Amino acid sequence: MRVGLGFDVHRLVEGRALWLGGVNIPWERGLLGHSDADVAIHALCDALLGAAALRDIGYHFPDTDPRYKGIDSRLLLRHVMRLLDEQGYRLGNCDITICAEQPKLNPHIPAMQRELADCMGCEPGQVSIKATTTEKLGYTGRGEGIAAHAVALIETKPVEP
Ligand code: MG
Repeated sequence: MRVGLGFDVHRLVEGRALWLGGVNIPWERGLLGHSDADVAIHALCDALLGAAALRDIGYHFPDTDPRYKGIDSRLLLRHVMRLLDEQGYRLGNCDITICAEQPKLNPHIPAMQRELADCMGCEPGQVSIKATTTEKLGYTGRGEGIAAHAVALIETKPVEP
């Protein structure tokens, strides 16, 4: 078994859709980024890559590459899972904490779990997502951005008989 850690932040701006955990959340602002800026998926990808010692998301999907402009981050997560599969790993479980003052994320968490489990080819029970605020402190507390932390445990796939 191996474990990895991921962290990401994106700035909140007007005129962008808000994507978190592969779910489009109706809100007045969205996250700014080269891709769809799904900060939860980016932190998760970095945790998975970190667990396999496969560098980081910026190494695999540079934000200077026009192929990734506006890309759905679920495609990035699917690609990361293929990289792990090629190395002989599968997901054990993952746990994500999203730090956002607004909007309220709890109603969207089951949908995020389903989306991420679908991307990773696992059961929703292997995907934990938690939402928190920073009590109005710091950049997340002022609503300037949203941060996400993730840990992932991966395990070696059993050898095919
Ligand atoms: Mg990012």
